[in-house]
Amino acid sequence: VLEIENVSKIFGALTVLDRCSLSVSEGEILTLLGPSGCGKTTLLRCIAGFAAPDKGRILIDERDTVPMPVNRRPVGVVFQSYALFPHLTVAGNVGYGLRMRGTDRAGIDRRVAAALQIVSLDSLAGRYPAHLSGGQQQRVAVARVLVLEPRILLLDEPFSALDAKLRTSMQMELRELIKRLGMTAIFVTHDQEEALTLSDRIAVMRRGRIEQVDTPQEVYDHPANEYVADFVGASN
Ligand code: ATP
Repeated sequence: VLEIENVSKIFGALTVLDRCSLSVSEGEILTLLGPSGCGKTTLLRCIAGFAAPDKGRILIDERDTVPMPVNRRPVGVVFQSYALFPHLTVAGNVGYGLRMRGTDRAGIDRRVAAALQIVSLDSLAGRYPAHLSGGQQQRVAVARVLVLEPRILLLDEPFSALDAKLRTSMQMELRELIKRLGMTAIFVTHDQEEALTLSDRIAVMRRGRIEQVDTPQEVYDHPANEYVADFVGASN
């Protein structure tokens, strides 16, 4: 589904991404794992189209993403903060993207209802975000993206606003949901436990470079170098 070929991104004197290559297949959950500042978010932003690589190429379904306008990329992004509209109800938030695309009223209602059912929020369609728990807000953020039927789901630290107990259950829940829908997803996290729980494969990053891409088991049992061993083994 996704090919990242030798992507570099430079801000002034700082090389934030250094010849990153990665290939993600259909139905796979991949995590970009690394410490703060290693370039995970920047790589996700390049895939989403919020930033453009200075070198290299990103292909989705074998099509170069450079000419694709941001709002036409077949990706959906769930942000750390969820970025829900406080003045819109749950249904309003989930239907917003469809309205922007000019979907008719009946189509919006039908697809919003289906998306809310997927995340088990059908009974809360009329609520405002301020009256939802953290876990429920996250589900709204996920439904808002699912309703647009993206090819790839991009999630930037989607559990960081949740307390520790809820975080673990939401990780399981979201992984099951993505697998049930057969979606392809890329998570960003600095939390190795989270990466081990969520992922089919993990890409371990350091200072803009991808150090190893492997299954959680392989990364854990056979780290490519000392850095990976330290990072995956470290508790934080
Ligand atoms: P975190 O987990 O803290 O979000 P990260 O691994 O996602 O970290 P990035 O957000 O990708 O890291 O940032 C990587 C580096 O690029 C950082 O040093 C950051 O300061 C720098 N950076 C990111 N965006 C810009 C920008 N628009 N202009 C200049 N520097 C930037």
